[in-house]
Amino acid sequence: MIIARTLPELLAARESLGPVALVPTMGALHAGHVSLIEAALRDSLPVAASVFVNPTQFGPREDFSRYPRDEAGDLAKLEAAGCALAWLPDVTTMYPPREATAVHVAGPSARWEGATRPGHFNGVATVVTKLFGQVRPAAAYFGEKDWQQLQVITRLVADLFLPVRIVPVAIKREADGLAMSSRNAYLSADERKAAPALYRALSRAVEDMHGGKETAKVLHNARQDLAVAGMVPDYVALVQAQTLEPLSGLLPPARLIAAAKLGHVRLLDNLAV
Ligand code: AMP
Repeated sequence: MIIARTLPELLAARESLGPVALVPTMGALHAGHVSLIEAALRDSLPVAASVFVNPTQFGPREDFSRYPRDEAGDLAKLEAAGCALAWLPDVTTMYPPREATAVHVAGPSARWEGATRPGHFNGVATVVTKLFGQVRPAAAYFGEKDWQQLQVITRLVADLFLPVRIVPVAIKREADGLAMSSRNAYLSADERKAAPALYRALSRAVEDMHGGKETAKVLHNARQDLAVAGMVPDYVALVQAQTLEPLSGLLPPARLIAAAKLGHVRLLDNLAV
């Protein structure tokens, strides 16, 4: 595996590898990230993974400085998974002193995570555009775990005619249903036991919707399920899958999305409906 930390090193790697599939990450890698790499390997292009904890997508009161970092562990996992290239830029490489450009995607970024975390999707869209410019991947793999992010990036690539194919990858879950996330490392033992209630509440809601129960009632029940499990729901919503606009009834393609706080940890999950 080639490890590139500077733009000249990345350029040399690009020249030796030819077209690649890119898996962007913020590190603290887990089996969810590895499933993205495995999906990318099936594309039969060499796989490049980037590891960059992007400061611009964190709010001022968020966890940027204490976000889990484990470079040695990440490199071992990338190599074992079969990556051809690890791209590990530093902050100055991504945001050089005189840079003056940011990317704003309206539409799908407006609500939910966008409303709770102002500026978050600007940071995501900007860093992903920069990564695409640096790595120039033929394809890029993103997890459905971050459903809204996936729609924002799909919109961005379409609107800017970027020559990269966006490939979604299903959510990788723990045996008890909890969606894998680097932030799960913040959960205490008791919180970890309570955390699968989010997936259970969403699963029950999807069943009830398919059973014909009224959407407003189903969403209300789901919020109650979360409260009973000790969570503070931020939102539980049925949305149009691409635009993220709320739906009042089951009109496909729809997605059930949710965010809830468990102690200090914000959990995200979503299901197809
Ligand atoms: P992150 O390092 O959290 O920024 O995530 C990097 C990529 O991995 C994003 O495309 C995420 O959606 C994806 N990802 C994170 N967790 C999972 C998971 N449990 N299943 C599938 N993809 C995931």
